[in-house]
Amino acid sequence: MSPWEYAPAPESRDLANLKPSYRPFIDGEFVDGSGEPLKTINPATEEVLAEVGTASASDVDIAVKAARRAYARVWRTMPGAERAKYLFRIARLIQERSRELAVLETLDNGKPIKESRDADVPTAAAHFFYHAGWADKLDYAGYGPDPQPLGVAGQIIPWNFPLLMLAWKVAPALATGNTVVLKPAETTPLTALVFAEICQQADLPPGVVNIVPGAGDIGTAIVEHPDIDKIAFTGSTEVGRLIQRQVAGTPKRLTLELGGKAANIVFDDAPLDQAVEGIVNGIFYNQGHVCCAGSRLLASESVVDELLEKLRYRMSTLRLGDPLDKNTDIGAINSAAQLAKIRELADSGDAEGAQRWTSPCRIPDRGFFFAPTVFSRVEQSMRIAREEIFGPVLSVLTFRTPAEAVTKANNTPYGLSAGVWTEKGSRILWMADQLRSGVVWANTFNRFDPTAPFGGYQESGFGREGGRAGLEGYLDV
Ligand code: NDP
Repeated sequence: MSPWEYAPAPESRDLANLKPSYRPFIDGEFVDGSGEPLKTINPATEEVLAEVGTASASDVDIAVKAARRAYARVWRTMPGAERAKYLFRIARLIQERSRELAVLETLDNGKPIKESRDADVPTAAAHFFYHAGWADKLDYAGYGPDPQPLGVAGQIIPWNFPLLMLAWKVAPALATGNTVVLKPAETTPLTALVFAEICQQADLPPGVVNIVPGAGDIGTAIVEHPDIDKIAFTGSTEVGRLIQRQVAGTPKRLTLELGGKAANIVFDDAPLDQAVEGIVNGIFYNQGHVCCAGSRLLASESVVDELLEKLRYRMSTLRLGDPLDKNTDIGAINSAAQLAKIRELADSGDAEGAQRWTSPCRIPDRGFFFAPTVFSRVEQSMRIAREEIFGPVLSVLTFRTPAEAVTKANNTPYGLSAGVWTEKGSRILWMADQLRSGVVWANTFNRFDPTAPFGGYQESGFGREGGRAGLEGYLDV
């Protein structure tokens, strides 16, 4: 049991300014979508938060036409320094409304308030600040003189970081002179629609940003729309594959940020206590709903027992429960469907002979929760070592030599991220060279910064988001 007891410290849900209903945002206005309205729920309590009007395929068409008009008449021709002012304004408004956005994100997604407050919302603002800085300097970005935008970008984002994924997509698109039609995930549309209010507050010209809530079919309507020039998608590898097939043979550009099964590799010379913090952060942050989560721990055989003992102790101190409580470490799983998927994969770990250990925490009576879990004695062939669980479940494998660590880490169809824990700088550099992943963190994990490009290899997708490299996906180069 946890050695610490904390009194409840809930953030006030009134800060979210929750409204009974929300509507799609097209051509600068909130409109009645002609899709079937959906109810978005709080996954921590299963209560309905709000009704959300959804778009239909014909609304997507109206949104694309609005985006095309805004592109041709205003946004494309506006000097970069002027576009930058809008991005700066949006960034400042996100900061001004940060408490509201954080509470709303936590209510709709289930993530702990300390994460939405300290990571999601400030990093979203940082993406707009960073890209505002690029808007008038694109000539110097290394893509030749006067690089041109692509046109209208269709953007489809998932539920794990709703506002942050929106910022990753919208900020570079606008900075480079593109206009946007964006679909948030069905289970987490609310912060995207508050972002639409922010666009209005910032006086963004109508049509530059359009937000069309809806289910997967609205994603398809965006992907298949003939007047969209670029698709940017973050989500499952399965849907990414489908989109790639739909876009093949068309002039549309495509960037995909898909799943992962990252190895977090701990050598015998690593500072183990520090590594434990990195392992916990790597897999339990955001309930493990992270594409780059360190879901496979690769531990040197000589330290694995000591490491696991320290890890289990640390896991037993994690507090699971009300996501609005400022002391909560592990919030709710985003949906019943995702919880079922996590349970099914964890059960496969039992069936295939891995050894399960679960943190002894109380699971609330209502809502979707899954206790932090670690599987040891995992074999490479097991599903829990191969498939993305997207939940708070860690699979532990061992290695004897650096070469074996590399072989096991690379033994995955994915290639998004990896972590290396060692005292030796030369080993870090060697490992970073050998590992086939877009990001390699050394003696840390899950570090994000708008200046650093992020993206994958193989089935984790292609294209980069963030940094100078991230501009390329929105420029005709
Ligand atoms: P999806 O890939 O289905 O969802 C991502 C986004 O794509 C959502 O906005 C979704 O809409 C939309 N979408 C769904 N189907 C289509 C389609 N045919 N064409 C265009 N857009 C579509 O992920 P899930 O939410 O179903 O999660 C399933 C698994 O995917 C997770 O368990 C996890 O393993 C992985 N995942 C990975 C993420 C990452 O960051 N790499 C993020 C989310 C999930 P809607 O929400 O309405 O279904």
